[in-house]
Amino acid sequence: MARLAKLAALIAALALVGCARTEAVSLQLPETDEPVIASETSVEPEAASLATTIEPAAEPTLAPTAEPTPTPEPTQAPLDYAAVKPYEVGQIMIIMYHGISKGPESNPYERSQDNFWKDMETLYDMGFRLASLKDWAENKISVEAGYTPVIFTFDDGLSSTFSLEANGQELRPVQGTAVELMDRFSEQHPDFGNTAAFYINGDMEAFKGAGTIADRLQYLVGKGHDIGNHTYSHAKLSALGAEDIQKEIGLIDKLIKDSVPGYKPLGLSYPFGIRPKEELLPIGLDGTYQGEAYSNGFGLREGQSGPPATPNRNGFDPLNVPRVRGSSGEATDLGWFLDYYKTNPEGRYISDGNPETIAVPLEYKDNINMESLGDKKLVVYDESGILAE
Ligand SMILES: [Zn+2]
Repeated sequence: MARLAKLAALIAALALVGCARTEAVSLQLPETDEPVIASETSVEPEAASLATTIEPAAEPTLAPTAEPTPTPEPTQAPLDYAAVKPYEVGQIMIIMYHGISKGPESNPYERSQDNFWKDMETLYDMGFRLASLKDWAENKISVEAGYTPVIFTFDDGLSSTFSLEANGQELRPVQGTAVELMDRFSEQHPDFGNTAAFYINGDMEAFKGAGTIADRLQYLVGKGHDIGNHTYSHAKLSALGAEDIQKEIGLIDKLIKDSVPGYKPLGLSYPFGIRPKEELLPIGLDGTYQGEAYSNGFGLREGQSGPPATPNRNGFDPLNVPRVRGSSGEATDLGWFLDYYKTNPEGRYISDGNPETIAVPLEYKDNINMESLGDKKLVVYDESGILAE
């Protein structure tokens, strides 16, 4: 009886947690296109019995008996799961910025230099750390244990985002651009990280300023940033047929590859957030133009497009990756989410600090997208931090 009562209490508690998350987000988010958060209500107490399918935690490897090693390898202290509470099916904000303005913002697609700096300060103070979109795409996020990854993206190749100027023989980012502000911020807060993804077009010269387009793109990649496809002419993809879609994407793919030899462009950002017609969606990701194949891997929507997604979670749709608009004006903009996470921190992805493992509390293990794991090791732990076996 006692056990049954305990079980009932656990179910009630889990249901409460789930409902709190569900209500808080689904009531206020206009476009929750998948039950990302609602799925947490479906936690089943029997989950523990399924634990046999989970790879057991790393077992201590036996020291070789033959030769004593003169210099013992430094062993990393095991993570205190109960204290850190890694939650690697949680939400990761992919923030969508465009231009950075000197003065006040004239529309929600512009961020002032002051507010961009404040965004970084607030994120830093709230325990967010920059992750690269590439690491996100490859499911190997490595931000420090206990912190939440956040990703910056910049659309349209605007020179207020990034442009170069001559500094003697060298080229350097113009002061007040996003890239220069990020450089400065990371000098003051080295543990924040310094990486972003830039989505460019071809008809307007990307990042106008000093240097050639190759200089500019090579500079970005050399500094650890990523570059992706935003179509040649900022096209409304829903209006185009297969051939035109492949041309729009293929031209930019070639521009990036020609500019940065060996670099693989990362992702497609749908101009205006408008996607190709349903049956043509797949060629937005993979297609061919003039005999050259492109592979974008995933498609980013405009901002205000639903709760932030993580590839590790059930329901993740690579054709439809939501972003958070880098603004503070409206519901579901960055400002709104930062306020939301102050009172609802439990939705956030919490890193275990190890890019090789995906760690999730036992009660949320049914939310894991098993297909996303690849060669990653799954770690499931209970509330006392003991690894499930
Ligand atoms: Zn755009």
